[in-house]
Amino acid sequence: MLYFDSHAHAHFESYKNDRDEMLHRAFDAGVGMVTAGTQEETSALAVALAEEYAAEPIYAAIGLHPDHAAPASFYDEDEGVSEKAKEINERGESFDSDFYKKLAASSKVVAVGECGLDYFHIPENRKDEVKHKQKEAFIRQIEFSVDVKKPLIIHCRDAYDDLIQMLNAKKSVLNAVPGIIHFFSGTRDEAEQLLNMGFYFSFGGVITFPPKKGKTDYAQIVKTMPIDRILSETDAPYVAPVPYRGTRNEPAYVIEVVKKLAEMENISLEEMRKCILKNSKYVFRVV
Ligand SMILES: [Zn+2]
Repeated sequence: MLYFDSHAHAHFESYKNDRDEMLHRAFDAGVGMVTAGTQEETSALAVALAEEYAAEPIYAAIGLHPDHAAPASFYDEDEGVSEKAKEINERGESFDSDFYKKLAASSKVVAVGECGLDYFHIPENRKDEVKHKQKEAFIRQIEFSVDVKKPLIIHCRDAYDDLIQMLNAKKSVLNAVPGIIHFFSGTRDEAEQLLNMGFYFSFGGVITFPPKKGKTDYAQIVKTMPIDRILSETDAPYVAPVPYRGTRNEPAYVIEVVKKLAEMENISLEEMRKCILKNSKYVFRVV
């Protein structure tokens, strides 16, 4: 293994026609990965895929994405088009720790997530109800991650104040490696607070895009962050890095992200690659 994609969705519908080829493009390039679930069905699929490729470096994360914690707040057909997926979307899922505990028994499960808070996709007229449900699901998953001793993979959009407050309230019980902030989109100050709690950060394709005024300044965030807290990801099938921007993303493209991180850190690609691989092995306890 040379590279590690800490956050992909290799089991999603988007790859239904060429999943095996897509995975082999990654494995052949030395790319290992965590494929992350978003609700019960996609979490079970993530574990099944990781188990199917038992000898390959593909691992699973299991959890409930905040977009699915309340009825029909957001649904994306890339995730799955099954009746079960649609039904979960209709009713919203309440986090069932017994269901996830069974999945966590697989040796391929390395993290809990993706979970967290997403206030970006909430319908205006249901704000309070949906926020409440998201918080409830997130607290249960924080507790679950402590119970199964696996790090959280956190998705947070437009909700860093609440996220930091909730994590702070649980600070005394969090795991030694509490988790990974995936696709960070906050401020330098918010990053600092999360670093102080022991969190890792996984950066993806967005760091290869030209910086946007008023948005997270990734060059600055990366440069001021301890290098031993940095991970790489794709969030495939979404947000493909340059030069693949606008096309379907896949884990093999994580190399473009690592190149950009090396450039931002002003170190060689080889040095950056080794550091991220070491961090990934430590965080997910994989070899
Ligand atoms: Zn994701």
